[in-house]
Amino acid sequence: MLSLVCAMLSSYSARAQSSASYTLEVALDVQQHTLRSKGVIHFTNQSTRPLTELWFHLYLNAFKNNRSLFLRNPFALGRSGQTLREYGYIEVHRLHSAKYGAENLWLKSSPHSPGDPDDATDILVPLPAPILPGESVDLNIEFTSHLPPVLERTGYAGSFHFAGQWFPKLAKLEPNGDFAHFAFHPHSEFYADFGDYDVRISAPSSFTVGSSGKRMEEKTQKGIRTTHFVLRRAHDFAFTAWDGFQELSEKIGPVTVRLLFPPWHQANALRSLAALRFALPYASELYGPYPYDTLTVVHPPEAGAGAGGMEYPGLITTGGLWFEPYLGSHAIEAVTVHELLHQWFYGLLASNESEAPFLDEGLTSYAEIGVMEALFGAGSAFSGVGLKVSLAALHRANAASYAGDENIGQPARQFTGFQALGGLVYSRSATILLTLERTWGKAKLAAALRSYTARFRFGHPTPTDFVASIEQTLGANAGQFLRTALFERGFIDLRVESITSRRKPATQGQWLGRAVVIRRGNLKLPFDVALHFENGRTERRHFEGAADSLVIDYQGASELSSVELDPDLKIPLDQDLFNNAQAITPKSPRRALDLLLAVAQLLVLGVLP
Ligand SMILES: [Zn+2]
Repeated sequence: MLSLVCAMLSSYSARAQSSASYTLEVALDVQQHTLRSKGVIHFTNQSTRPLTELWFHLYLNAFKNNRSLFLRNPFALGRSGQTLREYGYIEVHRLHSAKYGAENLWLKSSPHSPGDPDDATDILVPLPAPILPGESVDLNIEFTSHLPPVLERTGYAGSFHFAGQWFPKLAKLEPNGDFAHFAFHPHSEFYADFGDYDVRISAPSSFTVGSSGKRMEEKTQKGIRTTHFVLRRAHDFAFTAWDGFQELSEKIGPVTVRLLFPPWHQANALRSLAALRFALPYASELYGPYPYDTLTVVHPPEAGAGAGGMEYPGLITTGGLWFEPYLGSHAIEAVTVHELLHQWFYGLLASNESEAPFLDEGLTSYAEIGVMEALFGAGSAFSGVGLKVSLAALHRANAASYAGDENIGQPARQFTGFQALGGLVYSRSATILLTLERTWGKAKLAAALRSYTARFRFGHPTPTDFVASIEQTLGANAGQFLRTALFERGFIDLRVESITSRRKPATQGQWLGRAVVIRRGNLKLPFDVALHFENGRTERRHFEGAADSLVIDYQGASELSSVELDPDLKIPLDQDLFNNAQAITPKSPRRALDLLLAVAQLLVLGVLP
């Protein structure tokens, strides 16, 4: 829909303001595994207050020693499960600006994160004179990044290098003049202002360099190739370099997709590409146009697998074993689609992932289910050996095991562990959205998300913005459902408590029936009940779902044989699906079959597709 796309584009550009832009020259030493960099951060105070300090994230310092907030945490390395063999860190040599003469501002930087002498990921730099509202300064910076062996997405493995979170990054400046700075916790991801990235990367000419942004000119001198990359309106920049990459490139619509992968992963790369041919235009239609010329897709070699399964603006990493595509698994497509969808929920909306991780991972996981179902139907996670397993079913099962444990909407650092964060932020958020989709309607939720992603593109939305946006399209009940589900440990379990049937006294062939239904939990959702009768007839009744219990009475010519709650499985959030159906104690094979069918249907709807 071109007109919609044009309207969206014009409203987006008005809001895309550059607050922190980086022009950097970086030299990769593939022997020392270091990045020596110098350049300029062009910073504009877009807040309403004069700034007397700057805050920098030095994320790489998470791996500086084993006492950092990241590594001393018992949940550290939760994402990859790897252990640290060598340390990685950033040394800032010099930070200066013409505004302050020749003074090296870094000399007065705090040596550690606030209140934490062992951590150096959240660094304060006092300013000799304030930067006024609206004022821009060029901050000249020189630094060296020492990459660790690949863990938690960044580092080296042999000659494979992946540089993620490798440069000193200004914390996001909020409109009130506060910097949203935080130390790097193992549960947390990132948050930053939008800006332009203009980066020249030098590496040995035998290496293939892949990066965020559009590849501009290249020049080679004395065996060193320098490649210029430009990425506009983004909040991060990552790159990789390896002398073992094979390369594949294809134009999908207006976007050049560049895949870099080990030669033995050709089958994975082709599957990633096939998934992107569908997913890139599909997601652009649903959530607004992909904003960059280029998408670089990196499949790390096995030794660098810790760099896999991650998203950066304009660059995603996939992963998986070379033989997986031959086993019926759609894992390579799922990770490709998942990381691609982050281009919208992480890249373009750019919510605070430290404070509200569900806004990115939850929405991305939900969107991933939709794309994978459109691609592979009921076997969206796995199809083979006569078995189909859907991604929705996997998320549903994972979501159920963490129901009511912790608030989904809480900050990343507050989760009791990475497993709980995974179950709640990824799976339960996705299952909540699936419940919204099935109860309110797919088209309506799609419209709500389209308007949310359009309104907050480049807009850093908060959880309140998200709920209000959904409420605006789907109504007050949907808003209340979301608030309870996300912030009040919401759960729901519909249960058939009892079913009875008897002949009506003094009548010819008339029957009375009664089913008692219980709704446990603080979530209230409308649902259907199917009453099945001995003569094969089925009657549907609809309930608004606000009551804690429900007595359903029946009178008619055929005996009530079984009752089934939510027969279309519009509430995948329902905690226990096995208590959703009950039959009159089987007196005949017919009734036993009814019950069997009811349970089988739940299995098919709830566990398989
Ligand atoms: Zn993710």
